[in-house]
Amino acid sequence: MNTSPNILLIYTGGTIGMIKNFETGALIAFDFNELLLKIPELKQLDCQIKTISFDEPIDSSDMDINRWKDLGDIIHENYDLYDGFVVLHGSDTMSYTSSALSFMFENLTKPIIFTGSQLPIGDLRTDAKENLITAIQIAALQKKGKPVITEVGLYFEYKLLRANRTTKINAEHFKAFQSLNYPFLVESGVHLKVNTAVLRTANRRKKMIYHTHFDTNIIIIKMFPGINEEILRGIFLLKSIKGIIIETYGSGNTTTKKWFLEMISALIKKGIPVVNVTQCVGGSVAMGKYATSLALKKAGVISGNDITTEAAAAKLMYLLGEKMPLKVLKTIYETSLRGEMS
Ligand code: ASP
Repeated sequence: MNTSPNILLIYTGGTIGMIKNFETGALIAFDFNELLLKIPELKQLDCQIKTISFDEPIDSSDMDINRWKDLGDIIHENYDLYDGFVVLHGSDTMSYTSSALSFMFENLTKPIIFTGSQLPIGDLRTDAKENLITAIQIAALQKKGKPVITEVGLYFEYKLLRANRTTKINAEHFKAFQSLNYPFLVESGVHLKVNTAVLRTANRRKKMIYHTHFDTNIIIIKMFPGINEEILRGIFLLKSIKGIIIETYGSGNTTTKKWFLEMISALIKKGIPVVNVTQCVGGSVAMGKYATSLALKKAGVISGNDITTEAAAAKLMYLLGEKMPLKVLKTIYETSLRGEMS
């Protein structure tokens, strides 16, 4: 009997499997089976690989919560059949999707590793092969017959990062992702160096719970000097708004203009959660450190601590979907659920 790990490779789209449309010059997704023909090396890996593709592979800019659910359903339906999952996904929104998946799967005991590439797999100088092959190797890593990685990871350019800690920081470099507030999980060199001390540990006695209710009635507002009262008022008064993320300056600071602070207070009094995340790629929100964030704290703004905007959005949609009173949501939001904040 073959006991090598079983890996399910899921293709959602993205540059990794794209070709140039010779009429328009634009990159479009192509047939997944052709993708595998480009990497015969996969046969040499010490694991069984099965593949499945979205019926219509997409550029990740077209991802939405329905596609997140399609992806989650594939993993959920195959959860007991495989030892690990590798998701091929466009890099543009990979941090959002992978953060969302981390909230969808509670008590994960198997790896879900996202990867993609900056150049298509057929390109001579492609980064796709290394990313794909190593992502599969990492998903197949086992110790005493159990997966080493038991969380959602993102593998790109020699590093496995905790997915919900990542941000895409470069549209051209092979090193496209950064996780400034959390160390890498695995580094690929001559050997795979596993940073065991920082991995999430699985509690195998707990049942995996699959969550799919995400509420998209949220908005992310990026602060900038000159932000306009009328425009903000128009957005905040929308009936459909159920949650707001404000991307603030530095350690959580905003303008102290009366109209702004009153608007924020009024939203919270209406039961709408307002989350404070920093615009900086590293560091954290510390409301009350400066006078320019004290009023936010007093008004009951939720601290996003050192969460990324991508994970903050996914977490807010997830918790709104779980339906709970604002007080409870605030407490849970300020707690790390999947290692997304310190
Ligand atoms: N636009 C592409 C996508 O996100 C870029 C990539 O794959 O890296 O699908």
